[in-house]
Amino acid sequence: MKIPSLVLLASLIATLPVHAADTPAFDAQRMAHDVQVLSSDAFQGRGVATPGETKTLAYLIAQFRAAGLQPAGDLAGGKRAWTQAVPLGRFEITGPVTVSVDDGKARSAWTQGSEIAVRAAMNGAHQVDIRDAPLVFVGYGVTAPERNWDDFKGVDLKGKIAVVLINDPDVDGGEGDFGGKAMTYYGRWTYKYEEMARRGAIGTLIVHETAPASYGWATVKNSNTNVMYDIARADPASAHSVLEAWIQRDAAVNLFQRAGLDFDVAKKQAQLRAFRPVPLTGVTLSARFAVDARVIKSQNVAAIRAGTTRPGDYVVYSAHWDHLGIGQPDARGHAIYNGAVDNGTGLAALLALARAYGAHPAPQRSVLFLAVTAEEKGLLGSEYYASNPLYPLARTVGMINMDALSPQGPARNFTISGNAKLDLLDALTAKAAARGLAYTPDPQPEAGKFFRSDHFSLAKRGVPAISFGSGNDWVDGGVAAGQADKDRYTAVAYHQPADQFDPAWSFGGMARDVAMLYDLGLDLANSTRWPNWSADSEFRKVRDASAAQRR
Ligand SMILES: [Zn+2]
Repeated sequence: MKIPSLVLLASLIATLPVHAADTPAFDAQRMAHDVQVLSSDAFQGRGVATPGETKTLAYLIAQFRAAGLQPAGDLAGGKRAWTQAVPLGRFEITGPVTVSVDDGKARSAWTQGSEIAVRAAMNGAHQVDIRDAPLVFVGYGVTAPERNWDDFKGVDLKGKIAVVLINDPDVDGGEGDFGGKAMTYYGRWTYKYEEMARRGAIGTLIVHETAPASYGWATVKNSNTNVMYDIARADPASAHSVLEAWIQRDAAVNLFQRAGLDFDVAKKQAQLRAFRPVPLTGVTLSARFAVDARVIKSQNVAAIRAGTTRPGDYVVYSAHWDHLGIGQPDARGHAIYNGAVDNGTGLAALLALARAYGAHPAPQRSVLFLAVTAEEKGLLGSEYYASNPLYPLARTVGMINMDALSPQGPARNFTISGNAKLDLLDALTAKAAARGLAYTPDPQPEAGKFFRSDHFSLAKRGVPAISFGSGNDWVDGGVAAGQADKDRYTAVAYHQPADQFDPAWSFGGMARDVAMLYDLGLDLANSTRWPNWSADSEFRKVRDASAAQRR
């Protein structure tokens, strides 16, 4: 790809209305340097609970300190540390996985990775041994009172295995009100597991279908048959059923057939509000495997610019510091997953914001900078923070997360991860419009990207939260160039050792966009406003439940 000279780039930027009057300039070179350091081989791919973590934390803390911020982590002896301890559960299946289905006439085996992808149990069990458990089809497995939708109709799931569809009830039409093709949280696999555990099911089988899942079986297999992680929980059985698995569509069709049912007919019924759970009569499932479960220790980094008049209100900027560490070498023999874009760029933006806030008079509200761990293992650092907040979520004004920004030239637009309706996005869109930037919504809302980055851990507790995304309509080259670069990154670098620093990157886009995010946060930090979710958002109710604490 052609890289414009810096002079040409500067003239291009100059043609846009760039800075609000008092916005500090953000230094592209400084951000490039942070990305280069954090993604160098010396940081070993920033793996959780590795020497790469030690190095990464030391670098971030030194930068926050130099920026003039205060430590904002765990409180011990009246003093705040720079970090929040994050204990994580690590779960690995040891030995063979035996799963079989019995219909009274014949018992047939399902092979791990082929018909079924069983996750290592995260309920604390070291040995799973389920014998002849009954199965019940629960449709999309959704309880959404605000949409007048309940797939369970009072069915008792205790001791049973729930068979559930992926995505939400109106993904193929149907009569639901779940945003059409776009995926609500009810459609996400994490929701299915959580809801079945809440209802006491002994197991959950999610039926994999490529279109509504938005990814193929290979992805399901790779991410579920690997080592699993969770935040360390006081009562893990309340969050996880014993058996959590996906099954192939063909296996589901066979399962229904053996119970005298037609999968496609049952699926159609599940798209109706009147759907009732269907027992797979006469069919049972058995599963047996051993699990190595242990706790590892990681840390979030937390720094604060304390507010002057409303220090008990918090505006949060965040970025995950972890990446994949050292793993399988690529064709070049490079085994370090450097994570320059993912998420060296987000960290560079977070540090740039910290320096800007540190260099200017403190705003009225406090501004918190969170570098969270274990995003790549399932948003766990942010989940731990949200479950064990250092500062009250009820008085957290909003969260602006940054994950995998474009290190290249400026775009004429921006986006966010997934789609959502909230005041915070409206405010960002207004800031962008003032700079001549358009908001381009996620072109593939059915993929549920809103639920795949760290802002979501706070969003599901009601805190208005978004992940900012770089635009694809480049000032230099338009959508053709910008989208081609995104596609190239996804194909050759995303989660691969090739996600490495490139000295040709201009960081011109980040310099401009981070200034905009600074403006957005500063506005909130100097106001008494409490942005909220739109009235029809699935996160509105939980936010409103704490409204009294914001009076
Ligand atoms: Zn990331």
